[in-house]
Amino acid sequence: MKIIRKIPNVKRIALVAHDNKKKDIVEWAVHNKAVLAKHFLFATGTTGRLIEEELDRPVTKLLSGPLGGDQQIGAMIAEGKLDVLIFFWDPMQAQPHDSDVKALLRLGVAWNILLACDRATADFILTSPLMHTDYEVQIPDYNTYLTRSV
Ligand code: PGA
Repeated sequence: MKIIRKIPNVKRIALVAHDNKKKDIVEWAVHNKAVLAKHFLFATGTTGRLIEEELDRPVTKLLSGPLGGDQQIGAMIAEGKLDVLIFFWDPMQAQPHDSDVKALLRLGVAWNILLACDRATADFILTSPLMHTDYEVQIPDYNTYLTRSV
């Protein structure tokens, strides 16, 4: 059975960047300000504050990533409350919350959401015509897992 989730034309986008990547995500957000203005923005605490200041628009800020923000975003993905995750994680530095980073990336893939970890992919997502239309995403069928006998 196909399980479909409809991603609406106005999308819920989460933004997360590690400290060495914050400058990049802010630059990217400014560059894409016009497209981002058409969607709802969520972010981990510090990333959200910086983007809010720079774009002069409200961003729904969760906790700072290492204090639980990554996990809050992961929970939103699992509950079908986010459509896109732009996550500029730092490939050159271990994080105190590496386990949360891994969990967040895992949930993004588990629920087949739009997920960019670098600027090039984020640009391709944001310039897709599908950003402005409804889109049906097929969610993996976890029923076999859920009904397994243990
Ligand atoms: P921050 O969190 O935006 O609060 O710095 C980012 C992260 O997950 O490290």
